[in-house]
Amino acid sequence: MKIETKCLHEGYQRKNGDPGALPIVQSTTYVFDSTQHIADLFDMPTEYMYSRFANHTVDAVEKKIAALEGGAAAMCTTSGQAASLLSVLNLCNAGDSIIAISSLYGGTINLFAVSLKKFGIKCIFVDPEATDEELQNALEPNTKLVFGETLANPALNVFDIERFANFAHRNKIPLIVDNTFPTPILCRPIEFGADIVIHSTTKYMDGHALQGGGVIVDSGNFDWTNGKFPEFTEPDESYHGVVYSETFGNIAYIIKARMQLMRDFGCYPAANSAFLLNLGLETLAVRMAKYCENAMTVAEFLKNNENVESVSYPALEGDKYHERAKKYLPNGTSGVISFVIKGGRERATRFMDALKLASREVHVADIRTCVLHPASMTHRQLTDEQLIAAGINAGLIRFSVGLENTDDILDDLKQAFANS
Ligand SMILES: *Cc1c(COP(=O)(O)O)cnc(C)c1O
Repeated sequence: MKIETKCLHEGYQRKNGDPGALPIVQSTTYVFDSTQHIADLFDMPTEYMYSRFANHTVDAVEKKIAALEGGAAAMCTTSGQAASLLSVLNLCNAGDSIIAISSLYGGTINLFAVSLKKFGIKCIFVDPEATDEELQNALEPNTKLVFGETLANPALNVFDIERFANFAHRNKIPLIVDNTFPTPILCRPIEFGADIVIHSTTKYMDGHALQGGGVIVDSGNFDWTNGKFPEFTEPDESYHGVVYSETFGNIAYIIKARMQLMRDFGCYPAANSAFLLNLGLETLAVRMAKYCENAMTVAEFLKNNENVESVSYPALEGDKYHERAKKYLPNGTSGVISFVIKGGRERATRFMDALKLASREVHVADIRTCVLHPASMTHRQLTDEQLIAAGINAGLIRFSVGLENTDDILDDLKQAFANS
């Protein structure tokens, strides 16, 4: 199946007489005929057992997203942050380190730089354009993974997935990629060597600004038996000695995440949330194409506008990352544009306040055009140095183009420039 078809037909498999739409299985629990049956599930949870980590509706969505990314299996979480955290905790113990690019989403930077420390895990940040030699120098004996973001939020640099995957694999560790902005419609990182893909489904996947969520997708390609990951090859006593790599083969990573981390942390979405996410996924391919088309019109307008100092939109001819975007994102670079307005922080704030159609909100990739000023909002917690490392100018505006008619979006921009 082509990806547009997968959006509609993967996941929930209808049989004779089944409901046509994905059913919402609203139940915290499941019932069984015998005590032994449940006892067996505690040893090996192969069936739905408890809604803290398994539900029919969520499961259907997990299967759909895994298929869209070209992965072997997936696990949904209640937020993108939870997906990032669990994707790392599934591989790291206290005393380990990870390598991450410095242009990540601000929330991820804080999670890695501040909160991971509480688990005894150190994050070594590297420049996304670091040379292979610099990357090798950042590596420590206990480094367990490399983490990047396909299209950085909000700097919009394009991550060189293949080069970082090669670096990670040379060192027998996996590459995890946050693919939130492109979604699998515009880029499938696994095809370029990523081992694990994560998403904030809160953004384009949900698509309607209805509910938060995240997902971790396992490519099924990484060899966890290479000696670096004993938790995959040694018995897990909390499941009566199961050895993940032996019992679960190429989906060992995602099963381990569910059996250990989701069981213990319980950040699993509700059936209702999964149902809404599925609605978003059904139209994802159509919406992404339209976001790209609308954003190109807006990016071209901004590029030629006297109020604008610079525009970042990798799909745009002449953009710093245009050549790389052609390789990784040949069908477009989403609806998100970043631009630096002339007049710095103050003008940026006045411009934001003058907008009438575009809404000021802490969100991106909404179905409606929305706008945010990273320096005073999402990236407020970063120091000036971190701001620069993340590619953020104080006058930078993140403009998330929605599905309105572009005439109306351009009219709004024009009047806001004139009135700020
Ligand atoms: C929003 C976002 C996240 C965090 O997701 P939440 O669902 O808000 O927790 C992670 N990565 C990227 C690229 C994001 O845009």
